[in-house]
Amino acid sequence: MRLEGQDLSSLRAGENSLTVDMHAQLMGLYEALRREFGPREWWPADTPFEVMVGAILTQRTNWQNVEKAMERLRAAGALDVRTLAGMSPEQMHELVRPAGYYRQKSARLSRLARWFWERAEGDPQRLATRPTDDLREELLSLRGIGPETADSILLYALERPSFVVDSYTNRAVVRHGLLEPGCGYYELKELFEANLPADIDLYQDYHAQLVELGKRFCGTRPRCAGCPARAILGEPIPDEELR
Ligand code: SF4
Repeated sequence: MRLEGQDLSSLRAGENSLTVDMHAQLMGLYEALRREFGPREWWPADTPFEVMVGAILTQRTNWQNVEKAMERLRAAGALDVRTLAGMSPEQMHELVRPAGYYRQKSARLSRLARWFWERAEGDPQRLATRPTDDLREELLSLRGIGPETADSILLYALERPSFVVDSYTNRAVVRHGLLEPGCGYYELKELFEANLPADIDLYQDYHAQLVELGKRFCGTRPRCAGCPARAILGEPIPDEELR
């Protein structure tokens, strides 16, 4: 990732057009997380298409199971967009099985592979002139691809500045009163996109840092002692008061 060694103050250029307090808070949070966790090097994949496959496989399962399914796909020579686009969902069942929900996921992979092959023959450069919003709409029109999966594909496979949020992001943001409980995906996404520069490397690493925050500290039960977010965002609102 190009963020390694980069002077983060350069990302503050254009600050006047942003909501300065929230911008400072979100950048402060990012810097604190990065100091604690280091660069996350996310998304782990060799090609944009592998990112897409991973984005489908990771739905409702952990990454260890994704890796098992990816290994089967790789061993079968199916981690290639042309090959996968030419396979039926039924032919993928045994390959996808370790990731769970293998029938649904095989059908989703089949739709996504066909889309990527027909639109770009597997080459993201062929989509270079397409506006991000158009690509997002097309991805969302594929059954089984929701906002988080679409944004993951846009950000990590197609390298578009589309911030990815998830339940980990939601927990930390709501516990610190940045948004109200019950806020939706698009409110969360807007919080970050409206207050950060549209920098792809920043977005990629920031989402990964928030996932790490959720895994290590801000899970279903928050473990606030020693959490790096606390010094930046202050004392959290107790969960009992958020219900
Ligand atoms: S201080 Fe507590 S509530 Fe805040 S992000 Fe860390 S674990 Fe979550």
